[in-house]
Amino acid sequence: MASGQSGQGNPGPYLDTAPVRNGEATSSSPFQSHSQRDEGIAAPNSFQKWAVSRSPRNPEDGNGLVGENGLRGEAPEMPELPEVEVLRRHLDGVLRGRRVLSVEVLRPRLVRPTGTDALRALLVDMTVHAVGRRGKHLLFNGPHPSGTDGQIIGHLGMTGRMFVDDGVRELPRHAAVVLGLDQGRFVFEDPRQFGRFHADVSVLGGMGPEPWDPAWTPLVFGQRIAGSGRSIKELLLDQSVVAGVGNIYASEALWQAEILPTRPGRRLKPDECGRLWTAVRSVLEEAIALGLRVQPDFTAGAGGLFYYGESGTGSGVEERFRVYDRAGQPCSRCGGVIQRSVQGGRSSFFCRGCQR
Ligand SMILES: [Zn+2]
Repeated sequence: MASGQSGQGNPGPYLDTAPVRNGEATSSSPFQSHSQRDEGIAAPNSFQKWAVSRSPRNPEDGNGLVGENGLRGEAPEMPELPEVEVLRRHLDGVLRGRRVLSVEVLRPRLVRPTGTDALRALLVDMTVHAVGRRGKHLLFNGPHPSGTDGQIIGHLGMTGRMFVDDGVRELPRHAAVVLGLDQGRFVFEDPRQFGRFHADVSVLGGMGPEPWDPAWTPLVFGQRIAGSGRSIKELLLDQSVVAGVGNIYASEALWQAEILPTRPGRRLKPDECGRLWTAVRSVLEEAIALGLRVQPDFTAGAGGLFYYGESGTGSGVEERFRVYDRAGQPCSRCGGVIQRSVQGGRSSFFCRGCQR
């Protein structure tokens, strides 16, 4: 099992996400080849379609989605790498070693393209070996007695939640997939049904390196964005550049690196690439560390996933953002006013006083 290799401040292992073959995690890198990487993200897997609110979701209506910054008509946020990583660690703790006894699919569209029968064949009698992560995808790996050791891929989409409970209480209204386990029950619920639970590994094919992949260096990052006329914000959101960064942490990293989100990638100097590379890892690590301090809530509707602003997470969760969702507020670094603009249909938050 590979462990995190970023050195200082790394909250722990991230790279134990390699596909399982013959019942063991492969020792090779889980990352795809450059030729696959350069193809970018296939449209059907565009995470931007799956944006989810970071706001508290009202259990009464099942989702309670609002646009970011309270704005209507704008794509709300989705869970990004830190939220998925925190959930991964919780699920790994409760699923590792569990054997799947039954598979119930209540929302067949969420298991496409694998389908209910194939999913059942892959999962029944599988023992969960580990729960990994690749970008924003959860990877459920484990040996199967048939020898066809499997990997099931879960994505939370906009409103997905995954949790393990005792199997006694009533299923949530939007339960999509339920796995009966030798101890307890795994539930994937998703009111908006943009999440997925399937075995189609092609969704991982276009992804770039994990932020803590030793192969992702400031030089590699700089080479990847050099020559691109796209804005650096859009490049950070491109999962083929680096996996797992979404709208919130792109804004935060750019603020930390003192770089305006609208700068074209090709205009960034090497020292700026280095600062941004550091900032990406730093803001993600900080968010993971914070998420791990939040007590997981596996009660009905909570799903063990921490979402910003959710009751029980405390006001400190909101306050940690330096620019995200803070338009009109003073910049903590220079006192300037934080501004909001829309790039590619998504909000960017930044400070003109200290970002160049
Ligand atoms: Zn500032």
